Amino acid sequence: MNISCDIIKDLLPLYHDEVCSDDSKAMIAEHLSHCENCRHELAAMDTFPIISQKEQNITEAHEIKQLSKRWKKGMIKSALNGVVFTLLTVAAFLLAVYCFVGFHLG
Ligand SMILES: [Zn+2]
Repeated sequence: MNISCDIIKDLLPLYHDEVCSDDSKAMIAEHLSHCENCRHELAAMDTFPIISQKEQNITEAHEIKQLSKRWKKGMIKSALNGVVFTLLTVAAFLLAVYCFVGFHLG
């Protein structure tokens, strides 16, 4: 069977991801066995996208880490603000009670 390189190049991504039918697979494998150009195409597919995807994953993971770090910092800050506010409220309340009781007792 004589298939043009254009057809093979159309099918190569499917062949690479192993999602094409067995017939297509056999046809592409047969073409690859005698066509160096398409072998190079497949080899390039094997190398470049995986690397770039890995890099992208690392970048994304890094960004998520940064983001959660920032988020945690914000959480701690607002938690501290809440604690300080609560302490001040309790202190003011105790002071008011103390003054009130002291006034009545004294
Ligand atoms: Zn070819």
